[in-house]
Amino acid sequence: MSPVNLLDFDLDGLAAHCQTLGEKRFRAVQLFRWIHQKGAADFGQMSDLAKSLRDKLAGSAVIRPLALLSEQASTDGTIKWLFDVGNGDAVETVFIPEDDRGTLCVSSQAGCAVGCRFCSTGHQGFSRNLSTGEIVAQLWFAEHHLRQRLGLAAGERAISNVVMMGMGEPLQNYAALVPALRTMLDDHGYGLSRRRVTVSTSGVVPMIDRLREDCPVALAVSLHAPNDALRDQLVPLNRKYPLAELLQACRRYLASAPRDFITFEYCMLDGVNDDPEQARELIALVHGPRAEQRVPCKLNLIPFNPFPASGLKRSPRERVMAFARQLQEAGIVTTVRKTRGDDIDAACGQLAGEVQDRTRVHKRMTRPVIRIEPSTQDLT
Ligand code: SF4
Repeated sequence: MSPVNLLDFDLDGLAAHCQTLGEKRFRAVQLFRWIHQKGAADFGQMSDLAKSLRDKLAGSAVIRPLALLSEQASTDGTIKWLFDVGNGDAVETVFIPEDDRGTLCVSSQAGCAVGCRFCSTGHQGFSRNLSTGEIVAQLWFAEHHLRQRLGLAAGERAISNVVMMGMGEPLQNYAALVPALRTMLDDHGYGLSRRRVTVSTSGVVPMIDRLREDCPVALAVSLHAPNDALRDQLVPLNRKYPLAELLQACRRYLASAPRDFITFEYCMLDGVNDDPEQARELIALVHGPRAEQRVPCKLNLIPFNPFPASGLKRSPRERVMAFARQLQEAGIVTTVRKTRGDDIDAACGQLAGEVQDRTRVHKRMTRPVIRIEPSTQDLT
């Protein structure tokens, strides 16, 4: 029998596993702290665990790291790691340091089946879901590697924020995502606050509702268009869960969310979604026809990171700023994302990894797309 990967368990899962070994919950807590707080991978190091338990674990379990394929460090401090997840698939994880925080952008799938037009991952196609252990291993590696590399004192943390915005649609890998989030939040694990863990989704409506019940953390929604006709083209999942349903789910989510707003991501595409009329439509969309239908939100405008197969261009800076001003004047808190790690292709939407496309998304998307008009019915 292959050994159990202990990174696959949140604390309750580990306690249940320990019970099968005849051990009490407090032993699982000790073990969980060794793994996640101290970064131990060797049971022999775990000096306060009984020798009998260490021997049992050594024969039946592992703490399985991801195999590191490469590291690229940007001049701005951003670091991108490429990890081998087997069978020709590789995923990327990005560390983004800022003055007051260290953010880790984590992948949830090898590739992505949603196939957003402007996203390099989407163009790669989809291979498979990551396991909980593979999601957590990205944080486990980054936290403990960076503590050493940055010479942090005992008790200091390298990573204060996690964003599930790497490769993949996290809500299409829900069963693996939730235990990973719980491990991030657990005081015996990484102890991150719910406000500092963000799940970013392209709008999987039923799973937004499940997340609200199971593990409410901060929510970011990839909006990218102010109406269904355009969003159907840019984010194909919109055909299944159109904007009205998505915004209703956002309103429901806010009842349990750790923040009192939803972050809407809006990738600025030259001549596609960036004109003043579209800003007006966007304002009307989030304000809703009546006050009670308003979605409290922040708008995050993202300069597009062009890649050749997309056929799309970045909106000029002055157009982005004018769009932002229009939203701000309507009372919507709006930020323009700084691009980070441009020189190592670590910016938003640029993560491509290496994926064995099992869904032919890549084939469907390689048709040239020069310009997407809101009136265009179907380009796929
Ligand atoms: S933007 Fe997100 S959901 Fe869309 S294709 Fe890229 S990874 Fe998938």
